[in-house]
Amino acid sequence: MFGTIIWFLVGVALLLLIWRTGIGMLKSMTSTLPPPPPAGEMRRINVRYRCGVCGVELRMVMAPDQDPPPPRHCLEDMDFVAPIE
Ligand SMILES: [Zn+2]
Repeated sequence: MFGTIIWFLVGVALLLLIWRTGIGMLKSMTSTLPPPPPAGEMRRINVRYRCGVCGVELRMVMAPDQDPPPPRHCLEDMDFVAPIE
């Protein structure tokens, strides 16, 4: 009887462990690779960013919202330059 309870608890603990590992893996996957939103929800923007470290500039033309977080370059957030008319 006592042994049965122990094995039951071990089983529950294992299930919880597997469940939490699965959730953690799902979270890490979604944080590193967010699913692209449907095309209809993308906004056409036209902004420039400059890397403050190496000076490279890039133009962003599509984003999930009007004010997207700046991209990163040289491990730093890029500086917002100006919207292009
Ligand atoms: Zn850079």
